Amino acid sequence: MAIKQLIKSTSGWLYLNSPVGRQQLQGAGVILMLHRVLSNDRAADLPHRNELCVGPKAFEHLLVWLRKHFDCVPLMEILQPNALRSERPRVALTFDDGWRDNAVNAFPLLQKHQVPASIFLSTDFIGSRQRFWWESLGETLWGSHGEKARMHLIECLHARKHPLPVLLDDIDVERRSLALLHYLQGLKSLAPQELEELTDECPKDSLPQALDWHQVRAMEASGLVRFGPHGASHAILTGLDDVRLSEEIRRSREALSNGCNRPLPVYCYPNGDNDERVRQQVADHDYPFALGTGTGIYRGDGDPLNLPRFGVSQRTARHPQLLSWRIYRGARP
Ligand SMILES: [Zn+2]
Repeated sequence: MAIKQLIKSTSGWLYLNSPVGRQQLQGAGVILMLHRVLSNDRAADLPHRNELCVGPKAFEHLLVWLRKHFDCVPLMEILQPNALRSERPRVALTFDDGWRDNAVNAFPLLQKHQVPASIFLSTDFIGSRQRFWWESLGETLWGSHGEKARMHLIECLHARKHPLPVLLDDIDVERRSLALLHYLQGLKSLAPQELEELTDECPKDSLPQALDWHQVRAMEASGLVRFGPHGASHAILTGLDDVRLSEEIRRSREALSNGCNRPLPVYCYPNGDNDERVRQQVADHDYPFALGTGTGIYRGDGDPLNLPRFGVSQRTARHPQLLSWRIYRGARP
């Protein structure tokens, strides 16, 4: 660990274990944001995966650490706490998108450590073979689907005037992964239609990427996991006109009420993007709460339609003390 990280993690640890820290965090809620839990930690370490993916060892390490320092509670217990508040700060886990690995890799560990979680589904993807562009383009360019598929996609990108940077041929794995991360971030500004067309140029994987409704219901039946909407198509809500915005929220709401027994009254904005108009529409569709991606601690004040969360990467899952440093920064008055 670099010296700067070491200082942060030590200060974070001291904070959590100090009377000041305990007092500041008493009754406060911390909401964590995760996306994927891969089957292998080495894969999750690479920069182009690190932000959205954690490995199973790192994830389990995080769960053990959380149980030691927090009461791990369902999200609704933070949003609508009962009168009995414990001394310890509370933490709730949330997962965005609805990746299949949430059922395959995350759920068994959640069960093992009895940590509740909420999963927010982009409902068009659930039970379908529709793929997330980031994953499909990223992994094809990384070569995970073979050299032929990689070369084909590179040609398509070239023809569409999105040539790859030279660095993507770097022999150093870490540097190549970092270059891919930056390249993918640059593609975020493309129109959804173009991203979809590019995704169609990637090889069809034999396994779907998203959860299916059977998996959703099985996790819900355990009593440990609840589900809420994360858009229907994962379109960025602030970019939609009023009609499409309303349609997107309605479609995701309907899918959840058909697919689950007890969907959460909490919306989760794709990419965290929201504005006054989006928040109003979400409220009009009977959602009293919504999750954003701004960081901070929940104390029952602040806008319930733009709740803060702390993102968890492979790096923070491996070194959870870094998370307490960020909580400390978020908790300071
Ligand atoms: Zn998302």
